Amino acid sequence: MRLILLGPPGAGKGTQAARLTEKYGIPQLSTGDMLRAAVKAGTPIGLKAKAVMDSGALVSDEIVVGIIADRIQEADARNGFILDGFPRTVNQAEALDALLAAKAMNLDAAIELVVDAPKLVARIVNRAAEAAKAGHPVRKDDDPEVFKTRLEAYFRDTAAVTPHYRVKGILREVDGMASIDEVTKAIDAVLAHAS
Ligand code: AMP
Repeated sequence: MRLILLGPPGAGKGTQAARLTEKYGIPQLSTGDMLRAAVKAGTPIGLKAKAVMDSGALVSDEIVVGIIADRIQEADARNGFILDGFPRTVNQAEALDALLAAKAMNLDAAIELVVDAPKLVARIVNRAAEAAKAGHPVRKDDDPEVFKTRLEAYFRDTAAVTPHYRVKGILREVDGMASIDEVTKAIDAVLAHAS
């Protein structure tokens, strides 16, 4: 099973990907997580990406495509994977097409978590406040102002990725504003009918 989860930051892609990982035994490949790990480890990629990520803008296509090209070759991805936060531009989507074609791999579905942007901002502001209250570290890019920049980047660059998969006939839309369990159910229903 090879899946893409689409939708803006804060839509719940990470939460749903974790559930899918458990259900299908395939890894969640989150470029955001991989980049944060690179920043933490102080690798050359991490050093390049840090300032861009802190500002809420997108890291270059070259960097993220390189990360994904390496990652999908690893043994745990042999039976499939869930892409979370990638592709985020049409360029990345086209690069992914080429990577998969070279390996004779296909995608089963691209699932879009459809959201209401103003409600999403409220959700993230709440998430940051609750994390702070519980004494957990708050992601720098969950700061409300930076979050708005991330959302703008989504609507400017990533919204065009959805039609890329619609044209291929594999786009499936799910209401991302429903409860976590309802979203999981809707994804299960979509996958029951996927190729
Ligand atoms: P995320 O955790 O998916 O919201 O990603 C956090 C940040 O990492 C984003 O705001 C971007 O700066 C960067 N990032 C993650 N994935 C990508 C991607 N596919 N293309 C460009 N930048 C990305």
